[in-house]
Amino acid sequence: MSNETPPAKRKRTEDPAAEDAETTKRSARFWFDDGNVVLQAGNTQFRVHRSHLVLHSEIMKDCFSCPQPDGVPAVEGCPLVHLPDSVQDIENLCALLYGLYHIDVQGIDTSYLGTMIRMGRKYDISFFKISALKCLRDLFPRTLEEWDVSHLEVKKIILRSPPFLFEVVNMAYENHIPSILPAAFLSMYKLYNLGTLTSGLKLKSNLPGEPDQRIMLEPLALIDCLNGRTSMGSLTQWMLDDIGLGTWNLDGDAIYAVPCYDCTDKPMCSKGLTELFAALVRLGVNSRQIQIPKTFLEICDTYRLLEEEGNPFCDPCMLVLQEIFDKNRIAMWDEFPANLPSWRDTKDFDT
Ligand SMILES: [Zn+2]
Repeated sequence: MSNETPPAKRKRTEDPAAEDAETTKRSARFWFDDGNVVLQAGNTQFRVHRSHLVLHSEIMKDCFSCPQPDGVPAVEGCPLVHLPDSVQDIENLCALLYGLYHIDVQGIDTSYLGTMIRMGRKYDISFFKISALKCLRDLFPRTLEEWDVSHLEVKKIILRSPPFLFEVVNMAYENHIPSILPAAFLSMYKLYNLGTLTSGLKLKSNLPGEPDQRIMLEPLALIDCLNGRTSMGSLTQWMLDDIGLGTWNLDGDAIYAVPCYDCTDKPMCSKGLTELFAALVRLGVNSRQIQIPKTFLEICDTYRLLEEEGNPFCDPCMLVLQEIFDKNRIAMWDEFPANLPSWRDTKDFDT
């Protein structure tokens, strides 16, 4: 019976190295005839130049500076280095090292961004880390003023790459980049409702017959995301407090910030105040996207408080309300990181 076993099958079973050789393939893009080292990730090999790797990576420099022992596996005379990274990461790494892709905010690609952060940290490639972090920090800045501008850029990126924000937040958790989280979460709250945040973003497949995909926040990211989202209600709560809802003088009369002392049209401003209270209640946190208005006038506009002939308040009262709004919007931003329990008081990996 043993003679009936096909020889080819026996060979594969008894010789795993030979089986590996059969399944190994060369990278279509990164196989240079004059390359002098072969990197292998999964079953894909890349024949590249050691000088390129050594020039950018301190780890590779140390690695290649050690004398190679006899019997090191080789491919076409080049030493073979097995890497535990994904094929995509090594493909991206080569594209970046050979200058085929340059990262910038306008053409940002999360596949490359992820490779730059992961490989940059793992192999100590400074220009990967510096470029990727700059891009992320430009898009997700530390000040509210900058976020007002950068959020518009993030919206544009999402139009061409819908999972972008989910990928960036997950990347920040996997790689210790908490400084970008407040801005990234604020953009998420503004763009996605509670259902999408908790159950993930559905991504339509471009291929016929392929099922749709769904990208989710990682568990810790989701917990922080929901904690932070709840705190967004503080903006309207603090505004209501400062306008004076629930404050009375000794005679039992309600004291409100408007009509203010310099008010020029008390009947109009009193009417506007009633409508403003209703608008602030609607602006509060619910299951829909959160507005995070930029100016007090934006609240008036959104909730149609504006009269045909102009503002719902006289100029002095508008000024008082704008100041209350600005003060509490900044306070909301300043308080926000304290509502991300996983990252309280922690720093980015490079600081
Ligand atoms: Zn007034």
